[in-house]
Amino acid sequence: MQTITSVAELRQVVGLARKAGKRVGLVPTMGYLHEGHLALAEASRKQCDVTVVSIFVNPTQFGANEDLSTYPRDFQRDERLCRDAGVAIVFAPDNKEVYPEGFETFVEPGELAKPLCGGFRPGHFRGVATVVCKLFNMVQPDAAFFGQKDFQQCAVVRRMTKDLNLPVEVVTLPTVREPDGLAMSSRNRYLNEQERQRAVAISRALLAAQDEFRSGSRDVRNLIAIAEKHLKPLDKLQYLELVDSETLEPAESPLKRSATLCVAAYIGSTRLIDNMTMDLPVSIGEGAG
Ligand code: AMP
Repeated sequence: MQTITSVAELRQVVGLARKAGKRVGLVPTMGYLHEGHLALAEASRKQCDVTVVSIFVNPTQFGANEDLSTYPRDFQRDERLCRDAGVAIVFAPDNKEVYPEGFETFVEPGELAKPLCGGFRPGHFRGVATVVCKLFNMVQPDAAFFGQKDFQQCAVVRRMTKDLNLPVEVVTLPTVREPDGLAMSSRNRYLNEQERQRAVAISRALLAAQDEFRSGSRDVRNLIAIAEKHLKPLDKLQYLELVDSETLEPAESPLKRSATLCVAAYIGSTRLIDNMTMDLPVSIGEGAG
């Protein structure tokens, strides 16, 4: 495994692989890797010949009062995990390599970046879209792997890739969870023991709503109310919304299209997000031809 910090060297190494006809997969991360990240690397390893994991805590996606300076980091451990996972290249540029002096051009996402996290984290998805676009241009991967855990991010990245004709296949993989259901996240590290126990309320709420959906409920208010009941142990609920999985607009009752229940909440000072998609069974005849 190679660790590369400069774009020039990355281009050279990946360029050689591409010339040799190899399929290149990219897994963009902010490091402090966990099994969620490793599942993405594993999928890339299966579908591609060369897997690049980027590790970069992207300053442009953090708001002024957010956790950029305290974001957990352990580069040596990340390298070890990548090596064990069969990753070929860890790309770990510093801030100056990604945003050299004079940098001033951003990718501005549209409507998909407005609801949910977009409403509470102004500029967040602009930073995400910009860095993902830059990483696509730096690595020039054939495919890039993202986690459903960041549902809105997936939607924004897919849209950007399509709108800007970026020649990258965007692959989304399911959320990897702790045994009790908590979605894995680098930010779980911030939780003390008591907070960690309370954090399970988030996935319980989503699962309860999904159970209700599977038992036949198609009523948006009912599904949200079921979830809400489970969220009492949290310190502050930022949003709990059932949205259309494609447009991210509020879902309408009775549900007729795939909808995703999304939540953002604080436990102490830690902000966690999670979501669960409620897919309607495909009716006979649908999708035929
Ligand atoms: P991050 O390092 O948090 O920016 O995440 C990097 C990538 O890993 C993103 O595509 C995330 O959606 C994905 N990811 C983070 N947590 C999980 C998880 N629990 N399961 C699956 N993918 C995840």
